[in-house]
Amino acid sequence: MGDAALIQALQRIVGEQHVLHAPADLAAYAVDATPLLRSLPTVVVFPGSRDEVKAILELASEKRIPVIPRGAASNLSGGTIAIEGGIMLNMNRMNRIIEVDAANLTATVQPGVTTAQLAREVEARGLFYPPDPGSQVISTIGGNVAENAGGLRGLKYGVTRDYVMGLEAVLPNGAILRTGGKNAKDVAGYDLTRLLVGSEGTLAVITEITVKLLPKPETKRAALAIFDRLEDAGRAVARIIENKIIPCTLEIMDKGTIKAVEDFAHVGLPTDAAAVLFIEQDGPRAVVDADIELAGRLCREEGARDVKVAATVEEGTKLAEARRFALPALARLRPTCVLEDATVPRSHLAEMIRFIEATARKYNLLICTFGHAGDGNLHPTCPCDERDHEELERVEKAFAEIFDKAVSLGGTITGEHGVGIAKQDYLEWKIGEAGVAVSKGIKAVFDPLGILNPGKVLPKATRKRLVVRQG
Ligand SMILES: Cc1cc2nc3c(=O)[nH]c(=O)nc-3n(C[C@H](O)[C@H](O)[C@H](O)COP(=O)(O)OP(=O)(O)OC[C@H]3O[C@@H](n4cnc5c(N)ncnc54)[C@H](O)[C@@H]3O)c2cc1C
Repeated sequence: MGDAALIQALQRIVGEQHVLHAPADLAAYAVDATPLLRSLPTVVVFPGSRDEVKAILELASEKRIPVIPRGAASNLSGGTIAIEGGIMLNMNRMNRIIEVDAANLTATVQPGVTTAQLAREVEARGLFYPPDPGSQVISTIGGNVAENAGGLRGLKYGVTRDYVMGLEAVLPNGAILRTGGKNAKDVAGYDLTRLLVGSEGTLAVITEITVKLLPKPETKRAALAIFDRLEDAGRAVARIIENKIIPCTLEIMDKGTIKAVEDFAHVGLPTDAAAVLFIEQDGPRAVVDADIELAGRLCREEGARDVKVAATVEEGTKLAEARRFALPALARLRPTCVLEDATVPRSHLAEMIRFIEATARKYNLLICTFGHAGDGNLHPTCPCDERDHEELERVEKAFAEIFDKAVSLGGTITGEHGVGIAKQDYLEWKIGEAGVAVSKGIKAVFDPLGILNPGKVLPKATRKRLVVRQG
């Protein structure tokens, strides 16, 4: 099918105003938030309903045209890059909150609803949707489900997967699949809901999502612990958890990140510190006060030179915002910013951070680390310049070693950003040969023609492991 005929056929399905094909328009859809990757789609289409998605996929199947589902394109693994061209299926028009069901504690939404929009809507009714990726103002629930997004509250509340109860999805051949629902208990057959969560747009297009809600916590309180030694901060994280405090947020920023955030946002962070821990607890007031008090004491015992407790919820929110500025602040330093999400069991946090620092020195790079310390999910971030090929080679080698080390410590190559293109050749390190074979089989069952988000997740080649394995 020629491009002109494809454009006309899509215009007949969704209306002329919902199809983009001018070169200047397509250029905006050649990239996502991942650095270094760029490829033009043939056409961009904005369906307004499940039936339009179905008609587009039937057309794409018949003509063997790649389809790339897209939410806000904030992913950091190249998940929405149209590497083979094709139809960019932009889900943003499907942005209705269909229902908030207070009796069943669920919300049912279309995939284009933003994470923040859902959180606000349910909070207004005294309810709570915990997953809060740093990108929540722009990221969509569809994108969160497809990436199994985490967030700052992952330690206490889990990730997107833990809240998805049911899905409606369209398979590449146009068939409609409904999984799960509002039942708190449901063991009918294979857990297809969980299979689709984190499938990165490669198995089906998600058109409706039912999520679990919680009662909104009574209050929350935050503190900032300041350390002169990174190891002390790492040990403080372990001590807090050992003492049976599960803060809703327990984030770390290293020296480089603190400086970048302070230069960017002027929030009063101590730029001479080696690390800060941002600690937030929510729940009943008495529990929150006791937990923050004890967490502060444990930080001091582990060497924190100061612990600042926010006097009000608003002051705490400001501290949380400072942490959310980490990526934009680091991204300003150089033309390119490579951010990864190597994750380790939290007992290995300090060792992993030390390894990242040593690797940065070995390859003469600036690698700043921040992240979700409480769940071992680190974001080593390297401001660099993609025009400098020699520097990029060093960046690639450094991150290969960081992934290898994470896997050696019983961790993973990606804690929340997904595999996409960025990490597909490392996947076998984590899931093994048998895992890759089963994954390929699953892809073939859902998408035998290979039209849905082709070239993502599954490895094209497998890299050799680098670091001597431990234990
Ligand atoms: C500043 C910043 C902070 C971030 N912080 C976090 C964080 O704290 N935690 C975290 O986990 N991530 C974070 N991210 C990464 C990103 O925001 C998440 O991966 C998010 O879930 C992507 O949502 P999106 O709507 O942008 O999806 P997109 O980027 O558009 O798509 C992501 C993937 O989902 C697929 N997809 C999208 N919609 C559908 C659909 N309806 N059906 C099927 N497949 C679909 C796409 O094909 C793609 O593979 C951050 C990104 C940035 C830029």
